[in-house]
Amino acid sequence: MSDRPTLTTTAGAPVPDNQNSMTAGERGGVMLQDYQLIEKLAHQNRERIPERAVHAKGWGAFGTLTITGDISRYTKASALQPGAVTPMLARFSTVAGEMGAADHERDVRGFALKFYTSEGNWDLVGNNTPVFFVRDAYKFPDFIHTQKRHPRTNLRSATAMWDFWSLSPESLHQVTILMSDRGLPVDPTFMNGYGSHTYSLINAAGERFWVKFHFKTQQGHRHHTNDEAEQIIGRTREGYQEALFGKIEKGEYPRWKLQVQIMTEEQAEKTSYNPFDITKVWPHGEFPPIDVGVMELNRNPDNYFAEIEQAAFSPSNIVPGISYSPDKMLQARIFSYADAHRYRLGTHYENIPVNQPKCPVHHYHRDGQMNTYGGLRTGNPDAYYEPNSFGGPFEDKSASEPPLKIEGDMSRYDHRVGNDDYVQVTALFNLFDEGQKGRLFRNIAAAMGGVPGHIVERQLAHFHKVHPDYAAGVRKALKDAHGYEADTLSAAE
Ligand code: NDP
Repeated sequence: MSDRPTLTTTAGAPVPDNQNSMTAGERGGVMLQDYQLIEKLAHQNRERIPERAVHAKGWGAFGTLTITGDISRYTKASALQPGAVTPMLARFSTVAGEMGAADHERDVRGFALKFYTSEGNWDLVGNNTPVFFVRDAYKFPDFIHTQKRHPRTNLRSATAMWDFWSLSPESLHQVTILMSDRGLPVDPTFMNGYGSHTYSLINAAGERFWVKFHFKTQQGHRHHTNDEAEQIIGRTREGYQEALFGKIEKGEYPRWKLQVQIMTEEQAEKTSYNPFDITKVWPHGEFPPIDVGVMELNRNPDNYFAEIEQAAFSPSNIVPGISYSPDKMLQARIFSYADAHRYRLGTHYENIPVNQPKCPVHHYHRDGQMNTYGGLRTGNPDAYYEPNSFGGPFEDKSASEPPLKIEGDMSRYDHRVGNDDYVQVTALFNLFDEGQKGRLFRNIAAAMGGVPGHIVERQLAHFHKVHPDYAAGVRKALKDAHGYEADTLSAAE
């Protein structure tokens, strides 16, 4: 007798034949009662779930965060105390491409982390860049539309991208990073990750500090040029998956150093820039990075769909000792990421094994699709509302945050007024050597092919404000690549 397990229906009964459908006679006419055939075909139709509207193409692995430094005076979070080792999941991604997009495309990379702490899941859903294209969530859906396909041509549109960027100068910082060497990492292990937003740390005394999180690659920064990437895409569209999966299978575990920058509430009132503006960094000279620990990825998922495609990261997931900030984009993402998961995965998405906390979970949420809790999360069927007299879970006031002082009249403040969108970009431009500048100019020129002159000129004016060499370099590269001549009509406008 075979020791192989018996193939069963989803209801557990043995399947007598998995090769031949039940027909009326040898030549066919399939019987409707062949329910297992119908079940098999129906499952096939339902294998895909909606892909993420952004960050659809991704690569992920499990690992640990080990705390080697001491930031206990800033935070009481158990996962950030000296010596703590926390299991975690990382998912890297491109932003614009669909699930079948090639890995080696110039794009910002998502850098999403889920830490399964003893006090609940802490998600840090960042990018490989410290800043973002827009600072107000009103602009986020429009920005993403410019990255996706044109509704009529069904092609991506360079015109839409540069039209939007040139009309949104706050994008200049991120656009410059995207078009620089760091816009095309060799694979996910050769790039930094940044929490990007400003968050809070809260210590045992109830004091709040503002914080930026940085994950510095220990493999070094390595990037491809556009030409190299084209060659690779000609060979494989899956270069990142091959590299990340392959390295971890071979025991070559990638590592990142976790650093934080800390700003006191008093310091935040005095910075020349808004410290909650995601288009800005906190200069290292003013807020030096502090070493906190090491993140290592050392286990590949066993099932890509179950553990990476269904992984649900959301900035709403914070734990005691870590919290939000007034950053407008963060505030919007707190809503929209969790909402995306409710839509893609279902109401009870946090009960999918990869998203389940590794600490006890007690709540009063009840019914809805895929409630697989085996009852309530309250420990007592009579405790299905709150407050109750039946020993149901109860709030813990010790998890309260210190009050956040907010001043000012409620209004819609023009986010462009009083915001310098150029000075930090100039600081970045000045970090580039001649080779890096040349590649920056050529990458921008390549991305601007076919864009109308009046939009090109509007963007060149922004580059000029960063540094005259920036505009001149791009103008020359445009001439070399496309024979572009100055659009004097627009320039005169
Ligand atoms: P610093 O000279 O003190 O910091 C420079 C930082 O810039 C480096 O630590 C590195 O960040 C990053 N950097 C260096 N070379 C490049 C490059 N070729 N492409 C992208 N980033 C690079 O100056 P500031 O802190 O005042 O920052 C200057 C500019 O550097 C900023 O305006 C910003 O554009 C960029 N930057 C700043 C970061 C920050 O948090 N202050 C973080 C990343 C970039 P890392 O160590 O993270 O690789």
